[in-house]
This record gives sequence, C-alpha cells and structure tokens, in this order.
Amino acid sequence: MRIIADYDRCEGHGLCVDQAPDVFDLDDECDLVHHFDGAEVPTEHEAAGRRAVDSCPVAALRLA
Ligand code: SF4
Repeated sequence: MRIIADYDRCEGHGLCVDQAPDVFDLDDECDLVHHFDGAEVPTEHEAAGRRAVDSCPVAALRLA
C-alpha cells in the first residue's frame, strides 16, 4: 500500500499526524513530511495510514 500526498492541497493542520505519527509529520513550517513518499507503507503502519487518509479534511491524501 502506498499513500500519495498532494503537498499543494495540504493545509498543514496535522490530523493525519495525529492518526499516523509513524507515517506523517509536520516540519517547523507546518509543511507535511511523508516518511514513505514513493515507497510502500510498512505493513504495521497500514491501518494507521488508512485512518490518516480518511482524516484529511481537504483530501490531500489518497491510497495507491
Ligand atoms: S490531514 Fe491533510 S491537510 Fe492536514 S496535514 Fe495531513 S495531509 Fe495536510
């Protein structure tokens, strides 16, 4: 499972970070950091990753 992030759409509120702190983070400027961008999300983080996708209020994350 991969998660595609639309960095232009992201508004940096961090709901995804709350759901999946091992997958996402915000840097000091509240820009999204996707630890597995372009890579498979490790199996142990998949459930949290799906919750993060569902939590994003601006649909900046999608499964691939
Ligand atoms: S929940 Fe969506 S808008 Fe908020 S930081 Fe995550 S990707 Fe960006």
